[in-house]
Amino acid sequence: MIRVQVSVVIPVYNEEANLAALMGRLLPVMKEMGKSFEVILVDDGSKDNSLNLLKEFAASPNIKVVELTRNYGQHAAIMAGFSIVRGNMIITMDADLQNPPEEIPNLVRVMEEGRYDVVGTIRKGRKDSFLRILPSKIINMVARKITGVSMRDWGCMLRAYSRPVVERMIECHEQATFIPALATVFAKRVTEIEVSHEERFGGKSNYPLRKLINLQFDLVASFSNLPIKLIMYGGILMSFTGVCFGLFLAVARLVYGVRWAAEGIFTLFAILFVFVGLQFFALGVIGEYIGRIYGQVRKRPEYVIENIYYAIEEGDIR
Ligand code: UDP
Ligand code: MG
Repeated sequence: MIRVQVSVVIPVYNEEANLAALMGRLLPVMKEMGKSFEVILVDDGSKDNSLNLLKEFAASPNIKVVELTRNYGQHAAIMAGFSIVRGNMIITMDADLQNPPEEIPNLVRVMEEGRYDVVGTIRKGRKDSFLRILPSKIINMVARKITGVSMRDWGCMLRAYSRPVVERMIECHEQATFIPALATVFAKRVTEIEVSHEERFGGKSNYPLRKLINLQFDLVASFSNLPIKLIMYGGILMSFTGVCFGLFLAVARLVYGVRWAAEGIFTLFAILFVFVGLQFFALGVIGEYIGRIYGQVRKRPEYVIENIYYAIEEGDIR
């Protein structure tokens, strides 16, 4: 396998409106750097014309297109790209031009100068709606806690990884994963730089609230038992409160008599409902983990590659 210096991996799902502009900006940047490179575009089961556009790009050198059999999700698509990557340094980015390709030389420079394993990015002046930014803020806080790595922005996919880190990530075979967090498991030297952020060039976001919540749960559940722990502590606190409250009721009954206690029965109902609700919530969280364990033991492939398109290069033996 012939190595290249820099690989760029881009997941593509229904991005027909953006691909021409993306490649129009990305390729000049890559050529300008004067390093050997490849661009790997992974079609994550797009339903629009993206795949056909991608196949046309694959006719030019330095570009490979991976076609997945269906939609596996952004992180699985990136993993599929990682599986054929030849670069000593690997960069991931989005296809919708929210991550400006012009920032890549910066990433590459920091990566080389500091001999880092991972260079993350912080989106300067983030161009997303409030409803999209708020969950990110929460998840960034949680991610910092559970990975113990003090990165500020986990959601920005414009990131650089060293080859060893990527090789270890593809050995993981996790069903639901969150690549920026997974990388920190293997990375020793990690840093973050600021990059600019743009509006989505065309089309619309592929993350409705439902998918977003799922992704955030992937991040929390695949890297920690935090939710289960929280429930445990919550449970201890609740029973303690329950005991105190029971004592209070007993005393009140003795002091104010039976009638007072009987009239308070609806308060008890209200309390009961709160507790029952919490129990259901707890069950749900445990169920979520069990569901994930079930998914993992089934050992289904996390992605299936249908085809890889590329132009054969001189001296290229594959
Ligand atoms: N994407 C993907 N598979 C999916 C959803 C998204 O490959 O199921 C890709 C998408 O084409 C884009 C990137 O992941 O390159 C980020 O998606 P999007 O811009 O919709 O997310 P947002 O910026 O709204 O978080
Ligand atoms: Mg986007």
